[in-house]
Amino acid sequence: MTNTNQQPVPAASPVIGEAEIAAAVRVMRSGRVVQGPEVAAFEEEFSGLVGGRHCVAVNSGTSALYLLLLALGIGRGDEVIVPSFSFAASANAVRLTGAEVVFADIEPDSFGLDPAAVEAAVTPRTAAVMPVHLYGHPAAMDRLTRVAGKHRLAVVEDACQAHAAALNGTPVGAFGTGGAFSFYPTKNMHALEGGMVTTGDAELARTLRLLRNQGMEQRYANEIVGANMRMTDVSAAVGRVQLTRIGAWTEQRRANAAHLDADITVPGVTTPPVAEGARHVYHQYTVRVPGVRDAAMAELAEAGIGHAVYYPTPIHRLKPYWEPDQKAGRFWDLPETERAAAEVVSLPVHPSLTAEDLKRVAAAVNALEVIL
Ligand SMILES: *Cc1c(COP(=O)(O)O)cnc(C)c1O
Repeated sequence: MTNTNQQPVPAASPVIGEAEIAAAVRVMRSGRVVQGPEVAAFEEEFSGLVGGRHCVAVNSGTSALYLLLLALGIGRGDEVIVPSFSFAASANAVRLTGAEVVFADIEPDSFGLDPAAVEAAVTPRTAAVMPVHLYGHPAAMDRLTRVAGKHRLAVVEDACQAHAAALNGTPVGAFGTGGAFSFYPTKNMHALEGGMVTTGDAELARTLRLLRNQGMEQRYANEIVGANMRMTDVSAAVGRVQLTRIGAWTEQRRANAAHLDADITVPGVTTPPVAEGARHVYHQYTVRVPGVRDAAMAELAEAGIGHAVYYPTPIHRLKPYWEPDQKAGRFWDLPETERAAAEVVSLPVHPSLTAEDLKRVAAAVNALEVIL
């Protein structure tokens, strides 16, 4: 067993430093706190992360997904293909529009949508496919966009865990019809809360700006029905500080992952594979522990190693999806999703870890008695 007379190694460590606090205070003192100059500057600067695409800031990643679907005209009568192995927000955004969620299975290595499974799930009612770049690994966007093009589907990227991830040099959020990012505190960068929609389509960007603000561009000249999903300037100012550090933080996450890859040597634990051409940004460092995952977690807890399962219950098994599907006699066949949910556990990889922390994580994994 690992020495337990030490501070635990935390699973995540959101940064709210002096620079973030100073930026927030500066905005509050200015009196301009709602969707003002900081939001405009954040949008402009974030577009550098997504190949210069239009960026529309909103109040959460879920709002970003939801507004993107609404802006694409997706709603009742439409189907959207979504992975079940994701955070519920991916499917919730679809369901909230009135469209139907159709689940497709994942590829075991990338944990992203399987293009062949997507193609098999297409029907005449399919309007869009939503690849999720889970854990910071890009989904197979080259093959997924090919399937989408063939069937004329919109592509809505859920990039909420994947700021600065890329495939063959193209950043996530720049592949699809549109992309959605989250700035929740535990993500690779945050804005206290917040989200960003990215798109290459100027007309779609304008619709998104209307939708987030009651359908108004000019005050009280409402053009369409919209909501209030604006980002505050306080959030944007915090996000702008974080944006200056996301490059260095991402390199640190990748270096931390490389250390874990090299140091975790016990057979029975599979370290995360990286697809050819993929730039993994390690929102999570997720290993598989087939057969004995839960016992392994108990040992990690005892060793003071932060860890978590994302996600123990696939979305199709969550009540709001499971019950209506059962009633409708709809049964999803998602073997890779089920297997992943039973095998995965995420280990600390965030940029605040020390070299000693990383050694302790790897040593604790290599010492798992349930495996040895
Ligand atoms: C965090 C997350 C979201 C939602 O983002 P919020 O900002 O929390 O609304 C959506 N999808 C995935 C995969 C996420 O990890």
